[in-house]
Amino acid sequence: MTATRIDGKAFAAKLRERVGEHALEFAKAAGRKPGLAVVLVGDDPASQVYVGSKGKATVAANMESFEHRLPDDTPEADLLALVEQLNEDERVDGILVQLPLPGHLDEQSIIASISPDKDVDGFHVINAGRLSVGQSGFVPCTPLGCMMLLTDRLGDLSGLEAVVLGRSNIVGKPMAQLLLDANATVTIAHSRTREVESVVKRADIVVAAVGRPEMIRKEWLKEGATVIDVGINRLPPEPGKEKGRLVGDVAFGEASEVAGAITPVPGGVGPMTIAVLLRNTLVAAHRNAGLDVPEGL
Ligand code: NAP
Repeated sequence: MTATRIDGKAFAAKLRERVGEHALEFAKAAGRKPGLAVVLVGDDPASQVYVGSKGKATVAANMESFEHRLPDDTPEADLLALVEQLNEDERVDGILVQLPLPGHLDEQSIIASISPDKDVDGFHVINAGRLSVGQSGFVPCTPLGCMMLLTDRLGDLSGLEAVVLGRSNIVGKPMAQLLLDANATVTIAHSRTREVESVVKRADIVVAAVGRPEMIRKEWLKEGATVIDVGINRLPPEPGKEKGRLVGDVAFGEASEVAGAITPVPGGVGPMTIAVLLRNTLVAAHRNAGLDVPEGL
C-alpha cells in the first residue's frame, strides 16, 4: 500500500481563503475588521519569524494586525499592563503572546491575564476547561487543525481507535479531548507508556506529538492507519550543508508503505496552525460583536 499524502498546505490555504472572505463580510456588518494582537518579548530568532508570518497572514486574511515587540528584559508588570490594555481594546478580538517567554516571566500568569474570550490560542485554563466539559470556547490551533484534516479524510470518527502520542497541554491533551468528543476510542501514550509500539499498532488514527525525529516506524502501524504527524524536528546538518533536514516524529517514507494516509513534514500539520489561528480570530470577532459565527469554518 502507498499512503495518500494529506496535503495540509493546500487545506490550510483554502481555510485561509474562506476566513478572508468571511472577514470582509464581518467588516461590512461590524464596521471594522477583525483584529489580532501578537505580543513578542525578546529577540528569539524562531519567534521573530513566527510573529512576522502571523502578522502577514492576518493582513492577507483581511484582518487588522497589531504587533507589539518588547525588549527581552521587559518587567512582568509591563507585559501584564499591555495585555490588560489589549483586553480592553475593542479593535482587538484575539490576543496571542508568543511562547516561549524569557525566563524571568511566568508564562502561566501571563496566559491567565488574557481575557478567555480573546484567547485565540486556547491556552487559558478557562478554555481548557470549556473543552473538557464540551462548552464552546477556543481550542488550541494545532490540534484543531489536526482534527480538521482527520474529519476531512475520514468523515465520522465514531468508534475508531485513536492513539495520541504526547500529553502536552498545547497538543496532546486537547487532541485527545477532540477525538473523544468525536466518539473515537482514545488512548494517550507518553514517555512512561509501556510497549508503546503495540499500543500504536491498535490505532486506526495515530497522532504523533512527541518531538523525537522519526521515532514511529512502519512496524508500529496498523495497515491502513491514518497518521497525523505533528512533530517538527531538525536533524543535524549533512556534511557541506548549513542546516539539517526537517523531519516529523514518524519515519515518513517507510510509514507510507503501511499507512492509508499520512501528513508529510513539512507541508502537513504545520501550515494548519496559522490558518486555524485566523479562523479562531474570526470566530472571536463574531462573538465579540454579537454576530452569528459563520458555518463551515
Ligand atoms: P512537549 O511539550 O515536549 O511534549 C512531548 C510529549 O511527548 C510529552 O508528553 C512526552 O511525554 C512525550 N514523549 C517524549 N518522549 C516520548 C517517547 N519516547 N515515547 C512516548 N512519548 C514520548 O511537545 P509539544 O509541544 O507537544 O510538541 C510535540 C512536537 O510537535 C514537537 O516536535 C513540536 O515541535 C511539534 N509542534 C508542532 C506544531 C505545529 O505543527 N504547528 C505545534 C506545536 C508543536 P511525558 O509527558 O511523559 O514527558
